[in-house]
Amino acid sequence: MITLVPFERVSQEVLTELKERLQEVFGTEVNFASTISMPVWTYEPLRGQYNAGSLLLTLQEGKADERVLGIVDQDLFASRLNFIFGLADPEGRRALITLTRLRQDFYGLAPDPSLLRLRAAKEAVHELGHTEGLEHCPDPRCVMYFSNTLGDTDHKGYHFCPRCRTKISL
Ligand SMILES: [Zn+2]
Ligand SMILES: [Zn+2]
Repeated sequence: MITLVPFERVSQEVLTELKERLQEVFGTEVNFASTISMPVWTYEPLRGQYNAGSLLLTLQEGKADERVLGIVDQDLFASRLNFIFGLADPEGRRALITLTRLRQDFYGLAPDPSLLRLRAAKEAVHELGHTEGLEHCPDPRCVMYFSNTLGDTDHKGYHFCPRCRTKISL
């Protein structure tokens, strides 16, 4: 079972499509928790970003057969990284993605809502894969391929390659 935890500002269209795609990929039940506010103490005013590691710890851990995924619409950083698209707790059965840098308009391009929803699905499946103990995959079409840029994200699909697929227990 996957529990989606929307933080404030995340649109319903993104959540609805995310639920459908996660159900398709994992073949498991996907539920929503109620929307929560961004915890102010995870905000770093000097950077104008939220601390992804701190934010991840505010999510309740999933139970044995459950994964918890937070969906954020704020810019996130993590320890040595200037920004991140998502973060997973490899032992805690919880993960986080952010939509902010998945938007074309973040880069001064014309908005593309369907591309945003597709990118969000890829990031979500990728981070949930990490909570299953999967590492990065060398196959550039596999969802577990490491996205250094959005070009990498757009090139890969939102499914696991056959080799990664066998390691998923959800
Ligand atoms: Zn990764
Ligand atoms: Zn793979």
